[in-house]
Amino acid sequence: PLMNYDSSPIAAIATAPGRGGIGVVRLSGKHLDPVMQALCGTRELKPRYATYLPFLNADGSAIDQGLAIYFKAPHSYTGEDVLELQGHGGPVVMQMLLARCIEAGQEIGLRLAQPGEFTHRAFLNDKLDLAQAEAVADLIEASTEAAAKSASQSLSGVFSKTIHDLVEQVVHLRMLVEATLDFPEEEIDFLEKSDARGQLKRIREKLAEIFGQAAQGALLREGLNVVLAGQPNVGKSSLLNALAGSDVAIVTPIAGTTRDKVTETIQMEGIPLNIIDTAGIRHAGDEVERIGIERTWGEVSKADVILHLLDASRGPTRADEDIVERLPANVPVLRIWNKIDLSGHKPALDRSSDGTHIYLSAAEGTGMELLRTELLRVAGWQQTGESRFLARERHLLALKAAANHLEMADEFANADNGQTNDQALDLLAEELRLAQERLNSITGEFTSDDLLGVIFSRFCIGK
Ligand code: GDP
Ligand code: ZN
Repeated sequence: PLMNYDSSPIAAIATAPGRGGIGVVRLSGKHLDPVMQALCGTRELKPRYATYLPFLNADGSAIDQGLAIYFKAPHSYTGEDVLELQGHGGPVVMQMLLARCIEAGQEIGLRLAQPGEFTHRAFLNDKLDLAQAEAVADLIEASTEAAAKSASQSLSGVFSKTIHDLVEQVVHLRMLVEATLDFPEEEIDFLEKSDARGQLKRIREKLAEIFGQAAQGALLREGLNVVLAGQPNVGKSSLLNALAGSDVAIVTPIAGTTRDKVTETIQMEGIPLNIIDTAGIRHAGDEVERIGIERTWGEVSKADVILHLLDASRGPTRADEDIVERLPANVPVLRIWNKIDLSGHKPALDRSSDGTHIYLSAAEGTGMELLRTELLRVAGWQQTGESRFLARERHLLALKAAANHLEMADEFANADNGQTNDQALDLLAEELRLAQERLNSITGEFTSDDLLGVIFSRFCIGK
């Protein structure tokens, strides 16, 4: 990608805020040697070697002792010259080190990095494609082991290569169709011989397969949005604990989404479940809270599934009817009859005309397997050992759009009405071109600056 960017050298603390064994200040850009001289006392650090030295203040005293590592362009993360100063990981010493770098870098225009700016530069310098750059953020944000694994796979380029291979097949077919247009008298024969329709069919099948793998990965990334509804004491907290099982890890939500205390994320078999507990959104004290409540109800209406908990030992009450009335009609509801140890029901899953009912005991854990399986079914989760791509909504939309163009292409390819089909071939070629464009947008060829801005601004600073 050839784009202009503000190429002044940048610096940031690359490690997480807070205290740690080590902390890293990272610099990237051209002509870093004045900073190297000021901080490390030399302009001649050997690239890719760690040198232990004092990081110097303006008066020659040491801010800290640590390792300096220099990476010479293009052999660095960003593709520019990079200097990493690894010191002790305290917030104050890191700030002092960063401030000293900025001071010493005044003459070269060194400034603080924007969020994601290092990775943005890596993308612009062709060190990573866009899907890989997104995978960097996804790996950092991964909230489960499974999510981390597939992010790492995307980062290594498996997803990008799969897309790339598919694009090549589309390009090949396009060339064939366009060549045919240039030799009208042999049209039909030519396409028949080259099995153009067969090629298109295989491309569409492959795309469907990739979409399936990406959708699974998207689930790992975004998780399943679950609403928990029910009267006080019906066992909502107990059900959460039982669902989380031994993975009681409460994980942090995806950056960029704002969540408040009524939502928490647990994981079930590696899939994040984002739980909204409606019990937490009943009373509005003031205006601020009312706005929060409204927003939460907005989230409820976009949830994937609602778990309505009922007490099996008491049966439904008027209060339960009120709850049902408030729930959005468009979200599927599972009726969970809890406390069957008290009521004497057997664990069961019933699909009846008024919806799915599950009988279980959160306290004793009986019937929980039925709920887990049902949740996985709702999520469309497949228990395959196949690779998953940690895809984003953006990728799914692009794959879907490409699939639609290929479907159109298929129609034109089969528009055999006995007349000259020049026009159909023209349209076929155009649909193939559009499909190619959509696929390319995944890896970032032909991506608008606006989209890039949105993607990279979601990164943390220092990445
Ligand atoms: P919440 O207010 O809906 O979150 O309900 P809790 O999870 O806090 O549970 C309320 C009470 O019901 C607690 O005393 C739990 O121990 C009890 N409880 C929850 N689930 C069960 C169950 O399956 N069987 C029995 N016997 N008690 C349960
Ligand atoms: Zn509770």
